[in-house]
Amino acid sequence: MKVMKFGGTSVGKPERMHHIASLVTKGAEPTIVVLSALSGTTNSLVEISDHLSDGNRIKAKECIDKLEAHYHAFVKDLVVQKEAVAKAGSIIAEHFEFLNIILKISFSEALSKDILAQGELLSTKLFCTYLGEQRMEYLLLPALEFMVIDNYDEPKVSDIKSKLNQLLRKHKTKKLFVTQGYICRNSKGEVDNLKRGGSDYSASLIAAAINASACEIWTDIDGMHNNDPRIVKKTIPVERLSFEEAAELAYFGAKILHPASIWPAQKYKIPVKLLNTMQPEAKGTLITEEAGSVGVKAVAAKDNIIAIRIKSSRMLLAYGFLRKIFEVFEKYRTPIDMITTSEVAVSLTIDSPAHLKEIVKELEPFGSIELDEKQTIISVVGNEIAQTSGMVKKLFGSIMNIPVRMVSYGGSPHNISLLVPAEYKTQILRQLNKGMFGLE
Ligand code: ADP
Ligand code: ASP
Ligand code: MG
Repeated sequence: MKVMKFGGTSVGKPERMHHIASLVTKGAEPTIVVLSALSGTTNSLVEISDHLSDGNRIKAKECIDKLEAHYHAFVKDLVVQKEAVAKAGSIIAEHFEFLNIILKISFSEALSKDILAQGELLSTKLFCTYLGEQRMEYLLLPALEFMVIDNYDEPKVSDIKSKLNQLLRKHKTKKLFVTQGYICRNSKGEVDNLKRGGSDYSASLIAAAINASACEIWTDIDGMHNNDPRIVKKTIPVERLSFEEAAELAYFGAKILHPASIWPAQKYKIPVKLLNTMQPEAKGTLITEEAGSVGVKAVAAKDNIIAIRIKSSRMLLAYGFLRKIFEVFEKYRTPIDMITTSEVAVSLTIDSPAHLKEIVKELEPFGSIELDEKQTIISVVGNEIAQTSGMVKKLFGSIMNIPVRMVSYGGSPHNISLLVPAEYKTQILRQLNKGMFGLE
C-alpha cells in the first residue's frame, strides 16, 4: 500500500482534480490519497477566524460569501452529471451553513480550529464526488477518526496506527482510500490541526502507520530544489536526499515539506518521493536512508529567528551553567535551533517569541542578556559537507560582504548553519547559489 499526498495547488482547479483522479488510479497498488484544502482556502479560513476573533462579523461574513462563491464556481467545472452536481451543491451548502452558524457563536480557540478544518473536509468530499461520478470505487476515511495528537500537540503514533489499521481492516477489498491532510483531534477530543502545511505531516504519519511502500508528496514543483525558487531565479532539482538531509532542509525553511514531515517516514524507513503533479514524468526527489552522493545539495532559509546572548564571567571554568540555561527553555517548551559558546558567553536562537519575555526574565540572574530579533538562519545542507575539503573556503568566500552573527559547524556532518540579519536573506541566498552551485 502506498500514500499519495496532493497539496493545495494540485487540487486547486477542477481540471487538476480530474488529473489527480487519473494519477491515483494508475497503479495496481492499494493507495491512500491525502488531500490538502484547495489553494487559498486555508488562508481565507484564517482570515475569517481572525475577523471573528476581532469581533468583526461583517468582514467575516464577506469572506465567507466570497469563499462560497469560489466553491460554486469550482464545482461547475468539476462535475456535470445531475446527481453529482446535486451532491456537490449539498456539500458546499453543509459546510458554508456551518461557517454561517459560527458567525453567531462567541469566538474561541476551539471554534477557530473548527473553521480551519473546513478546507480539507470540503476538498476530500468534492474529490470523492468526482470519483463517484466517474464510477471509480473509493472509500473516504475521516482523518478525525484516526489522526490524534496529545497534550503537547505531538501525534500519538501508536493510536494513529491502531485506529487507522482498524478502519482499513473493515474494508479489505477496497483499493482506493481518500482522507484529509492537516486535520486531527486533540487530547480533549476537539478538532485541531498539524499546523500550516501539515498535510505533508499527515501523509508521513499515515505512511508510517500502515508501513507503506512509499510516501509520495505531489506538489507544484519537480522535487526539492537546491535553493528557494521563490527567491532565487535559477534553481535545480536535487535527485537524491537522505532522511537527515531532507529533515534539515524541511526544518530550516524549505517550504516544500512541513518541518516535521520527515521523522515518521525515517523512523519506519518509508521512502519519500517529492513529485510534480503538473509534470508527473519528472524525476523529482527520492528521500531514503542513503544520501546518494557526497557534497553540498541545497540551501534553505528560516525566518523570524531571535538570537539571545547570555554573557557572564561566572561561566568561566564553571560547570552546570549550560544546563541551567537549557532548563529555562525546556520550562517554556521553546526549542533552540542554533547554539555557539565562548568561555564567557553563549548565544542561541529560537524561532518562537511566545515566551520570550518570561525566558529573558529567568535568564537575567545568569548574566547580561542581549537580544537580536529579525534574524534568518541560512542552512547549507549536503552529505559530509563539513568534511569536504575547500567547502568552508568556498562558502565564506562567496558571502564575504555579509555580516554573519553566528555559525554552527560540526553539529552534524551534513549541515552548516549561519545566522544573518533578515535583510540579507535574499542577497545571501543568491550569492550562495552562485558561489556554491555555480548558478546565477
Ligand atoms: P503544497 O501546496 O503542494 O503543499 P507548498 O506551497 O507547501 O505546496 O510547497 C511547494 C512550494 O515550496 C514550491 O512551489 C516552492 O515555491 C516552495 N519551495 C521553497 N523552497 C523550496 C525548495 N528548496 N525546493 C522546492 N520548492 C521549494
Ligand atoms: N491546508 C493546510 C495549509 O494550507 C495544510 C496543507 O496545505 O498542508 O496550511
Ligand atoms: Mg505544503
